[in-house]
Amino acid sequence: MNRLKLAASLLALAAATPALSQTVAPIGATVPTAQGGANGVALLRNPSDPAKSVILASGELGGLEAYGLDGQRTGATPGGETYAVDVRDDLIAVLDRKEGRLRLSRYDFASGKTTAIGARPLTLGYAGEGVCLHRSARDGALYAFSLGGAGQLDQWLLYPTADGKMDGRIVRRLTLSSEAKFCVADDASGALYVAQEAVGVWRYDADPEAEAVPTLIDANRLGKIQGEVGGLAVFNGGKGGNYLVAANVEAGAFNVYDRNADDRFLGAFQVAIDSPSGLYGLRAPVGASLPAGALLIADDRKQGANSKIVSWADVAAALKLPVGEDAPAVAPSKLALVQASMETTPVANDGDAADDPAIWVHPTDPAQSTIIGTNKKRGLMVYDLSGKLLQDLPDGKMNNVDVRHGFKLAGKSVALVAASDRTHKSIALYTVDPATRMLTSVADGHIPTGLSDPYGLCMYQDRKGETFVFIGDPDGLMRQWKLTATAAGKVRALPVRDLKFDTQTEGCVADDETGALYVAEEDVALWKLGADAKTGSAKTAIARIADNPALKDDLEGVAIYAQPKGKGYVIVSSQGNNTYAVFRREGDNAYVGSFAVNANGASGIDGISETDGLEVTSASLGAGLEGGAFVAQDGRNVSPPENQNFKLVPWSVIAEKLKL
Ligand code: CA
Ligand code: CA
Ligand code: CA
Ligand code: CA
Ligand code: CA
Repeated sequence: MNRLKLAASLLALAAATPALSQTVAPIGATVPTAQGGANGVALLRNPSDPAKSVILASGELGGLEAYGLDGQRTGATPGGETYAVDVRDDLIAVLDRKEGRLRLSRYDFASGKTTAIGARPLTLGYAGEGVCLHRSARDGALYAFSLGGAGQLDQWLLYPTADGKMDGRIVRRLTLSSEAKFCVADDASGALYVAQEAVGVWRYDADPEAEAVPTLIDANRLGKIQGEVGGLAVFNGGKGGNYLVAANVEAGAFNVYDRNADDRFLGAFQVAIDSPSGLYGLRAPVGASLPAGALLIADDRKQGANSKIVSWADVAAALKLPVGEDAPAVAPSKLALVQASMETTPVANDGDAADDPAIWVHPTDPAQSTIIGTNKKRGLMVYDLSGKLLQDLPDGKMNNVDVRHGFKLAGKSVALVAASDRTHKSIALYTVDPATRMLTSVADGHIPTGLSDPYGLCMYQDRKGETFVFIGDPDGLMRQWKLTATAAGKVRALPVRDLKFDTQTEGCVADDETGALYVAEEDVALWKLGADAKTGSAKTAIARIADNPALKDDLEGVAIYAQPKGKGYVIVSSQGNNTYAVFRREGDNAYVGSFAVNANGASGIDGISETDGLEVTSASLGAGLEGGAFVAQDGRNVSPPENQNFKLVPWSVIAEKLKL
């Protein structure tokens, strides 16, 4: 080779091989697996004596093998073809490729025994290539991700059953275009990393209600990965040092990415390994020889497949990287967590279609009450309290809806429903027939709003029994109309006041008893002003997004839980963090706390996220709902993935969790 050629090939090598590359020697290795093959490894840290932690490795037909930190085998649990393994606390999830299922067990450090705890086989429907676990920092829910050869990436919610076992159900299916074998989730940040064999490393949000759009961290060929990735591991040492490691098999290297800098590539190190096939990282002391934790590498070599043990302190020293903190502070969630007891039939349109609910309370039989919901691409729907669709009214793009009882029409007292109709830029008005629970239009012809786009809507009934409707547009204008009955039994609207906000409003609610009007200016604050037209436009912010860390824009639906003597609560949807903030109805509307609605594993009802409209009633809705109910639009109706819908939480559950 002449000098020029040599220089060129060295340059090519430099481009393909990461600049920082140091060799790190393992501090030990396990004995080979009994029947050959090593495709996954995990470390069960013994919390009372970390030096007595246990290495678990998938020994294929030999089952799940256990070793001490000295590498000696201490036991094996048979189970089909054990192909991948992950752990959380004392819980073990194993991918059995022979039966195409997940196996769940618990490890007892005292006896060294594993006990199967699966309530039933969690069948994948494919052989399976990999598995990883995730525990949500937000709500403590435990998830498993199973990977398949055709690009399957299924998210399972694992939940305890009454008899102390664990069951699971698929809550989200993320499909990749080709085979993915390895994944790892970081519990503190909620990041899920997936290695897709032909493409590279992706990062997802592990929350099943999050947007399912991944970020590409590194790409084969074009990035710092030469061929396929042979395993992923996370070392979360908090702000001091937080890393992702990917086995860059063809380069014979392990790439390190900075999780504190959007997974920027930092460098690489080498370990003498034949065939890396699964990594496990733990950033916590594991005895004297592993002061900053361990990187375990399954080495699936032809002869003597085993797992290598690398000290994370050695890796950090070799790459001159800060090793980070032993136990980075994870702020414990102060959120009250509740679960929905009912979800409605999905709306007819896909995408962002469902928007706002109202609750009609039956005058004599509370269990016959209904939920009236908007489909902003189609019209109004009426659901019974089991979520069944009773009526579908394709009358226009209805955005928000509200209801008031006791409207005098044609000599009778009726329930009047108002909705903002974006198709006709009008006010849609209906009555509810208590016998059939159906809606009938009573608008006196087309009632124009004069707004560029009628958006948010709420109704108000003053102490004299006069009924009003407020509708806002996207430019901050809010108009108020008085609703009056005509001699012919129709309803017409007379504009009485315009209110102006600096930016877009949508959610609003009027308090019939106190005369307060609450309006959510989406990016700014929840405002309180007078609902009576003569009260003027003076307003006070009861909560500003900039001041209350519990609030994250947009602020959306607002509702009131009314109790006697002006007491109760005002609830607003904090859409940006999928929570609901609760304020006192009385006095200065002090902030009480926030709650979130998470998935109910046993019933299969998913959590509620990205809520636009919501409604609350303190009226009894029958057995189990004597204290009223909270109803909210769910922006992501998962498990199984379906069009958006509305979900109901008994108020008693919210009151208990928030100690109201
Ligand atoms: Ca929406
Ligand atoms: Ca509403
Ligand atoms: Ca909005
Ligand atoms: Ca949901
Ligand atoms: Ca659902």
